[in-house]
Amino acid sequence: MIELIGVQKSFGTLQVLKDISLTVDKGAVVALIGPSGSGKSTLLRSINLLTVPNSGYIRVGDHAMDFSSTQTLPRDRDLAAFRARTGMVFQGFNLFPHMTVEQNVMEGPVTVLGTPKAEARELALALLAKVGLADKAGMRPDSLSGGQKQRVAIARALAMKPDVMLFDEATSALDPELVGEVLAVIRSLAAEGMTMLLVTHEMAFARDVADRVVFMRDGCVVEEGDARQVIEQPSHPATQAFLSHFH
Ligand code: ATP
Ligand code: MG
Repeated sequence: MIELIGVQKSFGTLQVLKDISLTVDKGAVVALIGPSGSGKSTLLRSINLLTVPNSGYIRVGDHAMDFSSTQTLPRDRDLAAFRARTGMVFQGFNLFPHMTVEQNVMEGPVTVLGTPKAEARELALALLAKVGLADKAGMRPDSLSGGQKQRVAIARALAMKPDVMLFDEATSALDPELVGEVLAVIRSLAAEGMTMLLVTHEMAFARDVADRVVFMRDGCVVEEGDARQVIEQPSHPATQAFLSHFH
């Protein structure tokens, strides 16, 4: 469902992704872990082409882009179509502050997909109910807690009916008591079979919810395998050293 082959990305002379290959099967949950600066966010951003790789092949569902063979950048229309297949949730929510919660969730379907407003509203209300926020539809984001904002962000991403969901430290900015409600939503998406790649520092969550764990360091995948195996019995010394900070 997500396939990366030989993806490379440099910013100036700094090579941030060095030949990354990675597969996330349909319906699988993969947790991406690794130290700060190892390239996790850049990798996620490359998958929905917020960052355009220098070379490599990226496929999401039926949409593929090959950056090895072309020197020209993809056309905006192709980028937009590709991007619409992935739903991305960031640490910082990025909700539209001047819109209500319901309008935030409706915005993508109406403006990008051309969904009629009544239909988009119905979908928004269903998704808000799914994330436990049916009663907040008319509120502005600034009147919500961090955990509620993040659940709106998840509903907003789901409204585009993406093939895959990408989470970049979705709970890192939350007060500890609000982390659980967001993880519960992610867990329920996993149970429904949503294909997900998530960058997280929640190692217990990664162990329990992810099928596989990928450990990155310095722009490389150093170790990957069964989630419980990698978290509890990492085989590479770098993974062992990284995980020792969490015990
Ligand atoms: P963290 O755990 O702190 O979020 P990360 O693993 O997500 O780290 P990235 O954000 O992908 O790491 O950054 C990897 C490296 O790329 C860092 O050295 C960062 O400074 C650099 N980098 C990322 N984006 C850019 C950019 N737009 N321009 C220049 N350098 C960048
Ligand atoms: Mg990051």
